[in-house]
Amino acid sequence: MYECPWCTQKSFSFWQKQTLGPNRTLRCTSCTRHVSVPWGRAHLAAIPLFVCAVAGLWFIGDAFNSKLIALAGAFVGVAVGMVLTMPLYHAIVPLVKPESGARR
Ligand SMILES: [Zn+2]
Repeated sequence: MYECPWCTQKSFSFWQKQTLGPNRTLRCTSCTRHVSVPWGRAHLAAIPLFVCAVAGLWFIGDAFNSKLIALAGAFVGVAVGMVLTMPLYHAIVPLVKPESGARR
């Protein structure tokens, strides 16, 4: 569980945070205020996902010379990237008050 930056209650689950992006907010169940994640760190944590997806698309597609297999490779890349991104997201992306986390 993750602490709310407003009321410090542990009101957010692992999966709630995984689905939260810098453009989304979640409402705290105990104080009803919104929380978000900082833009920079959320994107940093998502890097393995993109790298693996692109690598799957290029290298697997190249090796088999087929667009269909390239697409399958991208899906495999996303799956592998998710495995890397999820713990990273858990470790380096804190929940923040939307005002302080937004880059304007
Ligand atoms: Zn709260």
